[in-house]
Amino acid sequence: MAYLGTPGNTIQVLKKYNFVFQKKYGQNFLVDTHILEKIIEASDITKQDCVLEIGPGIGTMTQYLAESAREVVAVEIDRALIPILEDTLSEYDNVTIINKDILKVDIGRLAAEKNGGRPLKVVANLPYYITTPIIMGLFESGVPLDLITIMVQKEVAERMQVGPGTKDYGALSLAVQYYAKPEIVMQVSPACFMPKPNVGSAVIRLTRHAAAPVEVKEERYMFSLIRASFNQRRKTLVNGLANAAELQLSKEVTAAALEQMGLPPAVRGESLTLAQFAELSNILTEKRQDYKKA
Ligand code: SAM
Repeated sequence: MAYLGTPGNTIQVLKKYNFVFQKKYGQNFLVDTHILEKIIEASDITKQDCVLEIGPGIGTMTQYLAESAREVVAVEIDRALIPILEDTLSEYDNVTIINKDILKVDIGRLAAEKNGGRPLKVVANLPYYITTPIIMGLFESGVPLDLITIMVQKEVAERMQVGPGTKDYGALSLAVQYYAKPEIVMQVSPACFMPKPNVGSAVIRLTRHAAAPVEVKEERYMFSLIRASFNQRRKTLVNGLANAAELQLSKEVTAAALEQMGLPPAVRGESLTLAQFAELSNILTEKRQDYKKA
């Protein structure tokens, strides 16, 4: 089987199987060998690695992964692609195809079964409609992962990398930067896909931190604070948090915490760094414990 990553070879496979693109699954297949080679290079795969590929499509990148890695597990939701993958990957005995929604896969169990619990590498040209839940699911599940190399919408890649004071800074930036070091590897034009998406794309590498960059007493609580502050980003932090019923925070309690941190009472969430959100979360966690004791 020839490499699939060219328009001609991709069309041939699609015709052979009368494949119909499903827009709802974000299907835009890569048809550029140069981009494929650069993704593989950026993903630092060795023959010791077990790679999880999310959304293999017709197996274009899977072919490259199978040649570089010890083992590849490819999770594809579209049942119509399974016979195609069985055909295009028939030469490789180190690929397992799972026909499932990635959001319903127990990745921890997969890492245990396929890699003895050692960290997996993730490589994917992600379906853009569920980029954030996939990334958050990977991080929050506590699955052992050391490197995630993914193609995402250009604006989403930028959002993951930026810091306070920019309009793209938000809950995704903070979550990604808490768990990993993000680096944009390259921009990718719509012309490199079939069909062409109507947005630009970028490949981003997320290298998992060996230890969290900030100390947080209650991770989940810090992320609730972050989500609440960016849900109402035009409001001051004091008002934004008071409006989030689930937090049960009075304006006075938040204002006192901000004062303790040396921040002005009218500060907005969008100007706080990750370290400041961690500090705020730790102060408020302590105050909550004091209430419970009182
Ligand atoms: N990797 C292929 C390539 O680069 O040519 C295809 C990438 S395409 C952008 C995204 C792929 O993810 C499609 O094959 C799509 O069917 C699959 N997909 C969409 N939603 C999924 C989900 N929830 N779980 C697993 N795969 C999914």
